[in-house]
Amino acid sequence: MGRVFNFSAGPAVLPQQVLEKARDEMLDWHGSGMSVMEMSHRGKEFIAIHAQAEASLRELLAIPQNYKVLFLQGGAIAENAIVPMNLLRGRSVADYVNTGEWSKKSIKEAKKYCNVNVAASSEDRNFSYVPARESWRLSKDAGYVHICSNETIGGIEYHWIPDTGEVPLVADMSSHILSRPVDVSKYGLIYAGAQKNIGPAGLTIVIVRDDLIGQALPITPSAFDYKQQAESDSMLNTPPTYAIYIAGLVFDWLKQQGGLGEIEKRNVAKAGLLYDYLDQSGFFVSPVDKRDRSRMNVPFKLKDEALDEAFLKGAQQRGMLQLKGHRSVGGMRASIYNAMPIEGVQALVGYLREFEKSHG
Ligand SMILES: *Cc1c(COP(=O)(O)O)cnc(C)c1O
Repeated sequence: MGRVFNFSAGPAVLPQQVLEKARDEMLDWHGSGMSVMEMSHRGKEFIAIHAQAEASLRELLAIPQNYKVLFLQGGAIAENAIVPMNLLRGRSVADYVNTGEWSKKSIKEAKKYCNVNVAASSEDRNFSYVPARESWRLSKDAGYVHICSNETIGGIEYHWIPDTGEVPLVADMSSHILSRPVDVSKYGLIYAGAQKNIGPAGLTIVIVRDDLIGQALPITPSAFDYKQQAESDSMLNTPPTYAIYIAGLVFDWLKQQGGLGEIEKRNVAKAGLLYDYLDQSGFFVSPVDKRDRSRMNVPFKLKDEALDEAFLKGAQQRGMLQLKGHRSVGGMRASIYNAMPIEGVQALVGYLREFEKSHG
């Protein structure tokens, strides 16, 4: 059985070279006589893997020295609680911008820990756009402002960085981190689950500015206290060692591709190919405002929903999997993360054309 084109939203496609390297190193990592899975997280081998992964991530994102990089567990959904526990810093309010399903989850969780002010929302038009900064109604003394910078389900993406003044900007970047260069210094905190654009599920990446940590609520579990984790190099508890190793291989792969500037060019080309086809088609539609469209997650609908089944079946027969949209929005969704080669997008567009011709 060959490899398919996997359009899953996550866990998602990984670069083939990374999987091959992991396979080659599976039984004996660099002459250690062990798999990375079998190593002590306190041993010199794993400490080197961990340090190298962090160094590569810092290099790729040009993370300033006054930011900590934490490799944690719990996923982005755990961060929805961990962020308010750590970042309220004595304040009682946090501002949230609601742009879709993942924002809604973040808001719901944060309400357990603070008063949530929904500063702006695009619910009025079914989450098809990012509300302009001028329309946001921020609180006077918020602990932070939270956005989901790429809504994986709705397929909208911030192509700009909101200015929140002195109040730290927090972003859930789970589904587009490393898809483009980003000015980390504009954020107080960035978090991302690994299983979309980084590596295996089980690893959560947090990038946080030094001065924001150290004032966690007393109820904060130690493993989720950024300060304690920062002081122990993310090894307060046993970290997800194998996931960190694979993430490190993905970071190396990104560097070999030419870094995030080059990756962004490819992502622009891939997304452009797909959106251009959808826009000229009278058969498929994209529900998102053009300027806010995600380069990573491309939702689209067939005008005649009765053909959904046939569409998915035909895609599967052609080796294109996981194109069904999220159950909350229906239709289709193609997730085209960094590791999706342009050939996959070309194959998908070819199939869209063929399907439109035979059913349109
Ligand atoms: C997938 C996803 C999550 C959920 O991550 P978990 O690892 O399941 O906790 C949260 N936010 C965004 C934007 C996502 O894409």
